[in-house]
Amino acid sequence: MNQKNLGHQARKRFGQNFLQDGNIIRRIVRSIAPKTGQRLVEIGPGLGAITEELLEEIGELDVVELDRDLIPILRTQFFRYEDKFRIHEGDALKFDFHTLIDPESDQRLRVVGNLPYNISTPLIFHLLSHSGIIQDMHFMLQKEVVERLAAQPGSRHYGRLGIMAQYRCQVDNLFLVPPEAFDPKPKVDSAIVRLTPHQTLPYPAKDEKDLATLVRTAFSQRRKTLRNNLKKMLPCEHIEALGIDPSIRPERVALSDFVKLADSYTDLKHNATTEDRQDP
Ligand code: SAM
Repeated sequence: MNQKNLGHQARKRFGQNFLQDGNIIRRIVRSIAPKTGQRLVEIGPGLGAITEELLEEIGELDVVELDRDLIPILRTQFFRYEDKFRIHEGDALKFDFHTLIDPESDQRLRVVGNLPYNISTPLIFHLLSHSGIIQDMHFMLQKEVVERLAAQPGSRHYGRLGIMAQYRCQVDNLFLVPPEAFDPKPKVDSAIVRLTPHQTLPYPAKDEKDLATLVRTAFSQRRKTLRNNLKKMLPCEHIEALGIDPSIRPERVALSDFVKLADSYTDLKHNATTEDRQDP
């Protein structure tokens, strides 16, 4: 497809880099492996590069697009699908994905998107807050963001983003996509990632907000020790009592240990409030 023929000028503020490499588009759709009857939603269909292949595969799709100038182009391009192609004009960050699911059914959403780089992290967190209704998500993101999402302890990419994503999901870094696959070409490499929310959390925290706060605090200074970064939250003896070495850097701490640390912080807070209440 030649995007320029569609008369649309790519807009930087909407992060518009349109896919134009047919092999890459097919590889993305093969990775998704959509099946008829599944409920798919595409975020930011743009000029319909991935949309077209998805519709050909399963004949039904919801899309969420912010740029209102693209709506008539998409309507014309896919008019033959009638009410099986549903366009939701608006910001995916504010979109309520529950509205796409029949509350009576146990069907879950499959989410797909070549995302604008500026919204990718907040959008992933917005979607993770809906993770109960999501089967999986396939995203094209900046390569560095995918590396951070999939990073394991010990890697320089390991940090808050990866830990919080892996708390909720299995993360698979699928393949790289070079700038030449897009028009206009972005300045950075991209990659495709698959996020599959866990049906049952492998390491459930007593309080997820405490986990998020603890992980953020633990990484406030990457090169400092756990003891140093956490000194205002957890006394060193508490870290040691969990069998975790307080002198290591946060990038060496596994998700399961972060959950133990966060639970210990939750208990400490709870005990402090109970003691306050008991004070005469
Ligand atoms: N899917 C198309 C492709 O692969 O060629 C377009 C991808 S382009 C990188 C990102 C798309 O997301 C654009 O169509 C843009 O208008 C849309 N977009 C940007 N911000 C958005 C938001 N907050 N909500 C929904 N769509 C958005």
